[in-house]
Amino acid sequence: MEKVTIVGTGPAGLTAAIYTARANLSPVVVEGMQPGGQLTTTTDIENFPGFPEGIDGTTLVMKMREQAERFGARFVRGEVTAVDFSGKPLRLDLDEGPSLETITVIIASGARAKYIGLESEEKLMGRGVSACATCDGALYRDVPVAVVGGGDTAMEEALFLTRFASKVSLVHRRNEFRASKIMSDRVKSHPKIEIHWDSVVDEVLDVARNEVTGLRLKNIKTGAVSEIPVMAMFAAIGHEPNTRPYEGVLTMNEAKYLVTQHTRTNIAGVFAAGDVQDPHYRQAVTAAGSGCMAALEAERYLGTLGG
Ligand code: NAP
Repeated sequence: MEKVTIVGTGPAGLTAAIYTARANLSPVVVEGMQPGGQLTTTTDIENFPGFPEGIDGTTLVMKMREQAERFGARFVRGEVTAVDFSGKPLRLDLDEGPSLETITVIIASGARAKYIGLESEEKLMGRGVSACATCDGALYRDVPVAVVGGGDTAMEEALFLTRFASKVSLVHRRNEFRASKIMSDRVKSHPKIEIHWDSVVDEVLDVARNEVTGLRLKNIKTGAVSEIPVMAMFAAIGHEPNTRPYEGVLTMNEAKYLVTQHTRTNIAGVFAAGDVQDPHYRQAVTAAGSGCMAALEAERYLGTLGG
C-alpha cells in the first residue's frame, strides 16, 4: 500500500515527488509514454526562475527527477488505464505491471497537443505534420512551412520557425488573433510570415507521395479554395488534458480539465496539479508551484488520518 502515488513526470509531478519524498512519504511516481512531459519538446526555457542563461527542457526535468530520487521517490513505468476511487484504498490500474493501491493520489498527467482531425493530417503525421516546432522545426531549413492557429502557441511557433524556414504561412480561421497583443504584433510585422486570415486547412497534400508538399486552404468567408506549397504543417490549435481514466469519476470542466480547489478534487485523497487542471497558465513554473501545493495538501490529508 502506497501513501502517495503521483501520476506524471512533468514539472508538476516531479515537484510533488520532491516535496512528498522530503516529507518521508516515499512516493511512487508513475511515468508514462512521455517521460518528462511537454517540457521535453521544448528547447530553451528562458523564464524558469533561477536559470538566467536559460535551460533546455529535458535538462530541467532530468534535474527535477534527480532531486526527487535523492530524497527517495520511486519511479514505475506505465499508463493509467482505469481507476477505482469508490473506496479506500484508492486503486489505479496500469497498462503494465500490478495495480497500485494508495491512500492518496496526485494526478499530474498534463495535456497534449490537439490536431485538426483530417485524415490526410493523420496519414502524414511525422512526415511533415507536427505539433511541435521546437522539436521538428530545424528539419525544415530554407523551405516554406505553415502553422495553423491564432493563439499564443501559434505565434510562438511561427516566430520560432522563421529562424529556419524560408517563409512561414500562418493559417487562422478568423480575422483576428486570440494571442496577446505583443505576440500578435511581432508576427504581423515579421517579414518572413504571411498570414492567411479566415482560412482553414481543407487537405494536407500529398498523401500519395507520403510527404507534405502543400496545403489546400479554404477561405471560410468567400469559399475560395487555394493551395500553398509547404514542406511541413505545424498544428498549434491548443491542448487537451490527459484525463481519460478519470471520466465519470472526477469533476471536469467542459474541456475535460479536472476541477480543483487548492489542488483538491471532488474525491478525498485525490489531488491534481499542473496542466491537467490548468487551462489558463500552462507554464512550467505554475505547474511546479501547483505540484508543491498538491504535495502539501496530500501531506496534510494523511495527517488528518493519523498516518
Ligand atoms: P489557444 O489560446 O486555445 O488558441 C488556440 C487557437 O487555435 C485559437 O486561435 C483557435 O481559433 C485555434 N483553433 C482551435 N481549434 C481549431 C481548429 N479545429 N481548427 C483551426 N483552428 C483552431 O491555445 P494556445 O495558443 O495553445 O494557448 C493556450 C494558453 O497558453 C493560452 O492561455 C495562452 O495565452 C498560453 N500560452 C502562453 C504563451 C506565452 O505567454 N509565451 C505561450 C503559449 C501559450 P479561435 O481563435 O478562432 O478560437
